[in-house]
Amino acid sequence: MGDHRGSLVRGRYVLTAASPPVIPDGAVRIVGGQIDAAGSWRDLRRQYPDDEVSGGANDIVTPGFVNTHGHFSEALITGIAKQFTLWEWVQALVAPVAPHLDDEAAYVGTLVAGVQMLRSGITLTNDMFVCDPGPGRPVTPGVVRALDELGLRGVVSFGAGDIRGVPIPVLLDENAALAEAAAASGLTRFRVGIAALFAQSDRLFEAMIDLATGGGHGVHIHLQEVREEVTAVRTERGISPIEYCARSGLLKAPTLAAHCVWVDANDREVLAEHGVGVAHNPVSNMVLASGVCPVPELRGLGIPVGIGVDGPASNDSQDMLQAMKTAVLLQRVHRLQATALSAADAFEMATIGGARALRLDGDVGSIEPGKAADLVVFDGEAPAFAGAHDPFGAVVYAAGPTEVKDVWVAGNRSVETGRVVHVDAAEVAARARPIAHRVAAAAGLG
Ligand SMILES: [Zn+2]
Repeated sequence: MGDHRGSLVRGRYVLTAASPPVIPDGAVRIVGGQIDAAGSWRDLRRQYPDDEVSGGANDIVTPGFVNTHGHFSEALITGIAKQFTLWEWVQALVAPVAPHLDDEAAYVGTLVAGVQMLRSGITLTNDMFVCDPGPGRPVTPGVVRALDELGLRGVVSFGAGDIRGVPIPVLLDENAALAEAAAASGLTRFRVGIAALFAQSDRLFEAMIDLATGGGHGVHIHLQEVREEVTAVRTERGISPIEYCARSGLLKAPTLAAHCVWVDANDREVLAEHGVGVAHNPVSNMVLASGVCPVPELRGLGIPVGIGVDGPASNDSQDMLQAMKTAVLLQRVHRLQATALSAADAFEMATIGGARALRLDGDVGSIEPGKAADLVVFDGEAPAFAGAHDPFGAVVYAAGPTEVKDVWVAGNRSVETGRVVHVDAAEVAARARPIAHRVAAAAGLG
């Protein structure tokens, strides 16, 4: 950029998710949507005395968080998961709602969940919208419109399934409409979504493989979330779902697999061999009693593992900081081992680990010159930080959305002093309430 005026974002700590991992009394310089430099506050200020300054001497500056798994399609059915395991929950909630989601529900639902994501420091979300496109189709371009309006990066997919009778050409049309909307957006990229193996006929699954490998698209799929799925596929095909995806050629496409809870040593090797990224969703795995993902084993094989908040119908909050903390606590209590996962591990997973899992680590996920200026500034004046001595512990254990001060996406603030900038959060909620009521009533819920 020929532009000489930039912005300096200052903090007591800059946590880079790169090398060096911590810059004490540091600053990040932003020019034209990108990170221009990161270093000592004093040096950068001396070098660029005319830059605008934000952040403060006690603040903590981090890369924006990468949410590796979510469903905006669930944004209007929060808090009614009752006491279901995954397959019961799909039958009771997701399936009845799927035909009643239209473009407006997608748009407003994305605004509602997206506001919560931004407030917890998420700057990029990997979404899978699950619906049965009907009269209100195409549905999913509403997601892209809302993300653009919020100033929130997205990797968007449509979780196509034909077991409920939607014809394959309709599903392909929906994918085409979403891909087109994403291509026209500056902040959003398209992936091919596969809700799950059991949601697709063989014919649709083959069409999805062709779409991904032929179009150069990545894939977003749920894999081995629950034991029932592994048993069903093994009974039918004699191999695990992960092996089946590898043999059928799906894993030739850059693949992000959500969950991978029930993976044995062979499955883990297949994931590593094919460079599959994993989204770990600790809160939804606990809500639906799915199990505990072997995060340390996956990371030990060099598999990139990110953290996801998962959908608002199985979490139900959209709070990345809560998911990060829960990721640590779940491993520790499951293994009765305090060293199972650290705050710094969870921070890595929520930043560069998630970016690697999505193969976007050339662009986002760390504070390094040339990467996108996606940053979170935590309020160092907050009581939660007054007694904090380790910045990773402060962010992962002590912080909540109230400590998130500014969130930068592509060099612009999408959250400023705790307030979402581009939409009115209360107005969004007011607009969503009647639509949520309509969708729940049409689906026979509540
Ligand atoms: Zn999911």
